[in-house]
Amino acid sequence: NDTLGQEVGDLVLKQVAQRIIDFDEQCLSARIGGDEFALVFEQELSEKHKLIQKLYSFLEKPVKVGESDYPVSFNVGAVEFPRQGKAFDTLLRRAQVSAQEAKRQHDFVFFYTEGLDEQHLRKLDILEHLDYAAENDELTLLLQPKIETQSGKTIGAEALLRWNSEKLGFVGPDEFIPLAEQSGLIKKLTQWVFRQSADYLRHLNAPDGFSLSINLSAIDLLSDEILSVIAELEEDMPALNRHLVLEVTESAIVSDPDAAIERLNWLREKGYQVSIDDYGTGYSSLAYLKRFPMDSLKIDKAFIDDITTSSKDRSMVASIIGMAHNLGLKVIAEGVESEAQLEQLKSLECEYIQGFYYAKPMPADSFIEFIKQHTADVVDV
Ligand code: C2E
Ligand code: CA
Ligand code: CA
Repeated sequence: NDTLGQEVGDLVLKQVAQRIIDFDEQCLSARIGGDEFALVFEQELSEKHKLIQKLYSFLEKPVKVGESDYPVSFNVGAVEFPRQGKAFDTLLRRAQVSAQEAKRQHDFVFFYTEGLDEQHLRKLDILEHLDYAAENDELTLLLQPKIETQSGKTIGAEALLRWNSEKLGFVGPDEFIPLAEQSGLIKKLTQWVFRQSADYLRHLNAPDGFSLSINLSAIDLLSDEILSVIAELEEDMPALNRHLVLEVTESAIVSDPDAAIERLNWLREKGYQVSIDDYGTGYSSLAYLKRFPMDSLKIDKAFIDDITTSSKDRSMVASIIGMAHNLGLKVIAEGVESEAQLEQLKSLECEYIQGFYYAKPMPADSFIEFIKQHTADVVDV
């Protein structure tokens, strides 16, 4: 409808619907959304691949309206009755979830699989409650010390978000951050992280050289909200730029490299440091590395894990460090868990490390204690 207008849209839809009705593999069909259809099979499906083939041949051909061909894009969710649901509501919901899954996978059809519904409901639950998490005081920001490798001094921390929901209990960032990114809710969370981080810096009476790293998502990086929150915080804290490091992954940059690079340049001109996070897991393209405005590079834990046992991993880490140094970048290794790894990284001249070997992410008051115990260790530039 959006591209062709209502009238043609209706005709296309009718033909698609007709094909789905004609398909008739002893199944019921229904339109359940703008471009979503449901198929309900009344028998257990044994030879699914044949069925899928047949569906494709039915659906693939463009639709003819008048003299014109229209390639059609729509999604079909398929469910089995009664095995995958007896009640109408359940069947409908599972068909809808399957159609959405088809869309997500850029496919015509998806056959409902066990657990998809529960995953979907869990997502909805999370998004609903996450929306109020900041107002309800359910978020906390943990701090994980960043250590200078040679001296063992604490030079700062990474801020890591935690959510303890009154309704859902503890939900890990690996679960809620991707959902928040998909839904756009992340902007709200990131604003909260910025404000909380500024508070921490004030409380810590952060000395020069102390840097707090914040994780930014692609949406944050390109949004104007972070500009306004930064401007707001700078009013109270003009030195904010000297203490904040913004961690961005390569994938956050490649979605719209020109816009991202412009924004990163802007941040760096304002004095904020930029660090490329999870390095090695994404594109790790040399061309990008040359173009991205940044100050440091963070090697992903996946490479550090086997640095003492796999000579391949050690060579890779060695060459990433060498390359970064040649580009004038500092290197930080994440996920350091053992003394052996630390020694290895020391000999490779990796500047900073972060990991359970020194400390896990901790609440702000524990971090203050941690620093006190290491008073002499805190860098004083
Ligand atoms: P990340 O940015 O790569 O953060 C490092 C993760 O590794 C953290 O997990 C940290 O707790 C964990 N870690 C650090 N040292 C070790 C170690 O020695 N061993 C092991 N096994 N793990 C270690 P966490 O806190 O669960 O966060 C997971 C991810 O969630 C983060 O990965 C980041 O991508 C995302 N995240 C967390 N907080 C935020 C936030 O405020 N904003 C955004 N956008 N993402 C966040
Ligand atoms: Ca990070
Ligand atoms: Ca990581």
